[in-house]
Amino acid sequence: GTGTQRLELSSVSISFGGIRALREVSLTVEAGTICGLIGPNGAGKTTLFNCVTGVYQPDSGQIRWDGVELTALPRRQIIKHRVARTFQNVALFPELDVIENVMLGAHHRDRAGVAAAALRLPRFRRQERDLRQQAAEILGSLGLERFAAASPEDLTLGTAKRVELARALMSEPKLLLLDEPASGLVHSEVRELGEVIRTLRERYDLTVVLVEHHMELVMSLADHVAVLASGQRLAYGPPAAVQNDPAVIAAYLGSA
Ligand code: ATP
Repeated sequence: GTGTQRLELSSVSISFGGIRALREVSLTVEAGTICGLIGPNGAGKTTLFNCVTGVYQPDSGQIRWDGVELTALPRRQIIKHRVARTFQNVALFPELDVIENVMLGAHHRDRAGVAAAALRLPRFRRQERDLRQQAAEILGSLGLERFAAASPEDLTLGTAKRVELARALMSEPKLLLLDEPASGLVHSEVRELGEVIRTLRERYDLTVVLVEHHMELVMSLADHVAVLASGQRLAYGPPAAVQNDPAVIAAYLGSA
């Protein structure tokens, strides 16, 4: 990178058949900041993540991160530019324990090697040791060390979601895209999650985009909030300003 760890979307558009999921969306997220991305269901939030991570190619527009044009890059390359995401639904491997699931987050470094290491094949023993140690440190930074040997099936949703966060961190990202990390969590877990995200940003020097329906979390965490509605950027600014924006209020009421 060039040391300008800023995410910049310029006029990004993508359609699926007749659905214009993103319409000329522009957005800048400065290094080290948290940008909340909100909007009614179907607004295009997940699609935006899919465009940044190379799952989809925008029909038009540019996406730059850390001075690199991501728009035409394959997913694999984008991960190498230290972009990671979590997903709306938890997807841990039940046949692996927690720490092995976290280790798999390093798969971009050497897919076959890491997978084999996680599965304890002898010729990858040294690599396994290093990865295991790194995964243990990350679990520690999330307060999850005691779950290292647990089965994902025995975790509460709140813990499983934090394990997913740990797995994303295992790829050593600088840009972290979080897709509804608070969904399904109880109130106390949401508060903890807020603390955790704040701590991780400091510790790993992260730039964060947070898609979230939980308004209290977004408004307390985000430096700036962008509002999408029907694929368009409706508003952008500091949380308090966005919250009181009549166009934003109307968009939410209109979708209720
Ligand atoms: P939610 O808050 O419900 O998760 P969202 O803001 O993340 O919604 P998206 O999932 O990005 O919204 O969807 C935006 C629009 O694009 C929706 O109308 C959706 O049906 C459509 N869409 C997204 N991906 C595809 C796809 N692969 N094929 C067809 N349509 C899609």
